[in-house]
Amino acid sequence: MNRRDYDAIIIGSGPNGLAAAITMQRAGLSVLLVEGKASIGGGLRSAELTLPYFVHDICSAIHPLAAGSPFFKSLPLEQHGLEFIHPDIAAAHPFDNGTAAVLYRSMAQTSEALGEDKFAYLKLMSQLVKQWPQIRADVLGPLRFPKHPLYMASFSLKALASATSLAKRFHSKEAKGLWAGMTAHSMQPLSNATSSAIGLVLMIVGHLEGWPIPKGGSNAIANALASYFISLGGSIKSDFYVHSLSQLPTSHAILFDIGPKQLLKIAGHKFSSIYKWQLKRYRYGMGVFKIDWALNGPIPFMSMACKRAGTIHLGNTFEEIATSERMISEGKHPENPFVLLAQQSLFDPTRAPEGKQTAWAYCHVPNGSEVDMTRQIEKQVERFAPGFRELVLAKHVMNTVQMEEYNPNYVGGDINGGIIDAGQLFTRPALRLSPYKTSAKGLYICSSSTPPGGGVHGMCGYHAAKKALRDVFNKKVTDVY
Ligand SMILES: Cc1cc2nc3c(=O)[nH]c(=O)nc-3n(C[C@H](O)[C@H](O)[C@H](O)COP(=O)(O)OP(=O)(O)OC[C@H]3O[C@@H](n4cnc5c(N)ncnc54)[C@H](O)[C@@H]3O)c2cc1C
Repeated sequence: MNRRDYDAIIIGSGPNGLAAAITMQRAGLSVLLVEGKASIGGGLRSAELTLPYFVHDICSAIHPLAAGSPFFKSLPLEQHGLEFIHPDIAAAHPFDNGTAAVLYRSMAQTSEALGEDKFAYLKLMSQLVKQWPQIRADVLGPLRFPKHPLYMASFSLKALASATSLAKRFHSKEAKGLWAGMTAHSMQPLSNATSSAIGLVLMIVGHLEGWPIPKGGSNAIANALASYFISLGGSIKSDFYVHSLSQLPTSHAILFDIGPKQLLKIAGHKFSSIYKWQLKRYRYGMGVFKIDWALNGPIPFMSMACKRAGTIHLGNTFEEIATSERMISEGKHPENPFVLLAQQSLFDPTRAPEGKQTAWAYCHVPNGSEVDMTRQIEKQVERFAPGFRELVLAKHVMNTVQMEEYNPNYVGGDINGGIIDAGQLFTRPALRLSPYKTSAKGLYICSSSTPPGGGVHGMCGYHAAKKALRDVFNKKVTDVY
């Protein structure tokens, strides 16, 4: 090979950029990771957004996918400062009457609490939880012939179904509500095919790994990844926003931790016309409106379970949540939106001054919406926790436009790097033999716009780096599964 400044350059330091950088550096290459902002981390940054000493997660907060990531598990992240804290209860789902359905770490406890739906829950989940070690490589990677076709077929039959159709297995409002909250993470109408997939994965991983939060803030995950990368000899350059390939030092491969829209701007002139056409047709889904609060005390939920849970899904019944998600997909703003809320400081005292608390929440909104949903979100919290509003000391909000300004990967506020519906499940970001390889030699995409999609797990970065290592450097990486 001709001499270059670096073997590989990674653009963007989100979890996938960091994962790609580590995979390539571990294979013995010289790697430069460049980041447009002053600090690294992408969706893993934390900051004092409201008042001094109140530490808020700007984007991701709850980390079942990080805890269950086969790639992260292969790294010595504890030695680099990462400590996961497990709330008593992974997730709770309150109802108007003050009760709540609960996702416990234990599948038996979860099903037991669902009463008449105990066996329906076990029937849906127990095989999948048992078979997860055999199918996770196929679920968390690009489309290929599965290693365990029968197990994978059983997962796919459920994952490809709509949340609405699988909800028919349940009879109680508790089980249906819990299911709606989990599957609404798919950010699409619950009647859509594939809308069950993310909910199933979150529940399986919840039972196997929990839904932890990192001590100190989500940035602790990015810091641990970066620290390990540097310990391997990798280099990081922040405050280096890439507008054009001509800004970069020379290298044999470039991996982009960015979405198709930006990729076209930076490297479009290198691509074939068909690949450019494919990227232009890539679709984004709903956006989010986010609030962080500094609070004078814990949120006074009516339900005891909610007071012990890291994550709360606020939306009451299946029907209410399904209506909310459908309206958003039609470009409307529901009066009672489904709200995802996290209360990290209850379990991690480093996040707020003594006696005070933080809370993090968002609701889905139409892509590109500039509507301020503060009133609607606070109304939903107050509905299940009367007295909440009096606790608010300060708040910080971000609409979809501010979200995209903060990170150009969140196009129109879509936090998953593009919709994961039936049309795009297997073709992110384009229908190709490898989704990570662009049509230009040496250029790869490694962001959440590739399989397996959004969330903090680093698997997109790991798979993209594996592909580049094989193509460009003729190196094979040991599997992390
Ligand atoms: C509000 C919100 C809540 C979320 N909650 C959760 C959660 O609780 N759990 C979870 O698992 N996931 C959550 N997510 C999703 C998760 O954060 C993302 O899926 C994940 O961060 C995607 O990782 P990535 O590496 O693909 O890209 P990103 O994390 O988006 O990182 C991309 C990086 O590239 C940089 N960059 C972009 N363009 C350029 C350029 N031209 N030059 C140089 N640098 C550039 C950006 O500054 C950024 O640092 C949430 C996201 C948001 C926004």
